[in-house]
Amino acid sequence: MSDCIFCKIIAGEIPSKKIYEDDELLAFHDVNPAAPLHFLVIPKKHIPNIMELDEADAPLMGKLLFKGQELAAELGCAEKGARFVINCKSDGGQTVDHIHLHVLGGRRMAWPPG
Ligand code: 5GP
Ligand code: ZN
Repeated sequence: MSDCIFCKIIAGEIPSKKIYEDDELLAFHDVNPAAPLHFLVIPKKHIPNIMELDEADAPLMGKLLFKGQELAAELGCAEKGARFVINCKSDGGQTVDHIHLHVLGGRRMAWPPG
């Protein structure tokens, strides 16, 4: 989508601190980190939010979650863990309408979220 920030990051039109890229996925550091480690994993396919997933997207989302796990482990979270979050639409606190997995680590997270 032409007006989507994350599609522009995928296209290289907006710079990002990339962590990982393949044909289907991109991972990059969040520009406004909420933890010592805070990165996003996104599909290259523009899916606006989790409510708009099709069943056919399930393998892609499985790969996305597994890549989040692999990268979190590589970046030092294997022992203590991390917070894996997908915000959805207004009540979920989503601000960028291109589905993304947040991975937050390096500190103890609170629950429930505010
Ligand atoms: P949401 O609130 O939609 O779940 O999360 C969007 C996230 O994207 C926020 O944590 C925000 O800091 C991050 N973000 C927004 N614009 C950019 C950008 O241009 N570059 C990067 N790296 N992160 C961004
Ligand atoms: Zn997009």
